[in-house]
Amino acid sequence: MKQNKVVISGGGLVGSLAACYFAKRGWIVEVYEKRPDPRDPDNVGKRNHRSINLAISTRGLSSINRLSPDVEKKVMDIVLPMYGRMIHGLDGSTSAQAYSILGKAINSVDRGILNEILLDQCETFEGTKVFFQHSLEHCDMDAKTATFKNIVTGEDVFTSADLIIGADGAHSPTRKFLQYYTKVNIEQKYIDHGYMELEMKAKDGNFAMDKEHLHIWPRKTFMLIALPNLDKSFTCTLFMPWSKFESIKTEEDLNEFFEEYFPDSIPLFGQESINEFFTNPKGALFYVKCTPHHYKSNAVIVGDAAHCTVPFYAQGMNCGFEDIETLDTLLCEQAAPLIDSKDPVACQNIKTSSLTPEQIEAALIKYTGCRPRDSASMIDLAMYNYIEMRHSVNTFSYKARLWLEGK
Ligand code: FAD
Repeated sequence: MKQNKVVISGGGLVGSLAACYFAKRGWIVEVYEKRPDPRDPDNVGKRNHRSINLAISTRGLSSINRLSPDVEKKVMDIVLPMYGRMIHGLDGSTSAQAYSILGKAINSVDRGILNEILLDQCETFEGTKVFFQHSLEHCDMDAKTATFKNIVTGEDVFTSADLIIGADGAHSPTRKFLQYYTKVNIEQKYIDHGYMELEMKAKDGNFAMDKEHLHIWPRKTFMLIALPNLDKSFTCTLFMPWSKFESIKTEEDLNEFFEEYFPDSIPLFGQESINEFFTNPKGALFYVKCTPHHYKSNAVIVGDAAHCTVPFYAQGMNCGFEDIETLDTLLCEQAAPLIDSKDPVACQNIKTSSLTPEQIEAALIKYTGCRPRDSASMIDLAMYNYIEMRHSVNTFSYKARLWLEGK
């Protein structure tokens, strides 16, 4: 029986989850990742210029559970649950707002460790290879071939597959190739705000603030947020208009800014961490909506490659994970039409590695039929939630609503 092969461009969060799923379903898997192996001791701790930690919610966890409850457990062992928001007022006061009356939480997770768990997992499958420091150069979506440049040797590596998956992030090269082969409608928008991360170190060996909340300093047109880390530090992210970033030029400007807007955070940060403002990278924020996500049975884009969002709904990765769960469900439906393809237990042993191109295409048509619409809604919610997080959470009417809801 023929064994299909998948080539995945990008071994970030979504690419590595996709590799695990396809390997589990019996495919030969090749992952090509531009960066060096994050598990190599020489590379540990290097910033990847996205966020250091991020919130994983039920949507993302469900996708990991379908892959394997054991992997979900490994992930749950490294998360810190956040049961609500902690709002920091201008006067230094704090007030908690629960996310749920049922005590549910979203979870802070280290991006690097999560990526490593998924990379380790995909490499447990025979027939899976991950090539680091290989960057996608060319993709022929009719011939189902791709060329990657080995960044270390400069050599071109040619490969072919039954399916090519683009999981290569917000500036996805695969998305650009897809446009040569099919009519892709794309909407891209940069917002006028950027972000920067600052580290709030552990204080006397403990968390400097309550670790069970996502902390927010809402200041109407901008905000600072903080998520806890396993080493008892917080990663704090300042989201604000570029003009505001540019107006802070000296240490004096910076200290005045913190004294005016985040006075309670000053002793928690310490001057050294506050001064990281001048050295840490600033990131742009934009969204991309596009459709279709696939070309014939030959290629498909997932994760940020398919739908990059502003981060205010904390659903970018979660939604990318849901892409993979959805794709797997649709492929299982083709392989075993009589089984409930949404039921992870019923699908546990299904193999999709000998599906025909017609069956793969049928699944990809359905994938494009739902994911662009769903991710566009998530992007709209994220755009709205920036206003909620930086302003509405502090308004009387919002607090009254929470009180009425019993939160
Ligand atoms: P990426 O993580 O960008 O991975 C893409 C990979 O492709 C990278 O490893 C890259 O090196 C590789 N690559 C790129 N080009 C090539 C090439 N030419 N060849 C080979 N490989 C290539 N999401 C949440 O769910 N919750 C959150 O709380 C959250 N917080 C966020 C906070 C911030 C500040 C930001 C910026 C984003 C946040 N997100 C959050 C969104 C989340 O980071 C992304 O949705 C997620 O990283 C997408 O994963 P991905 O694998 O699709 O893309």
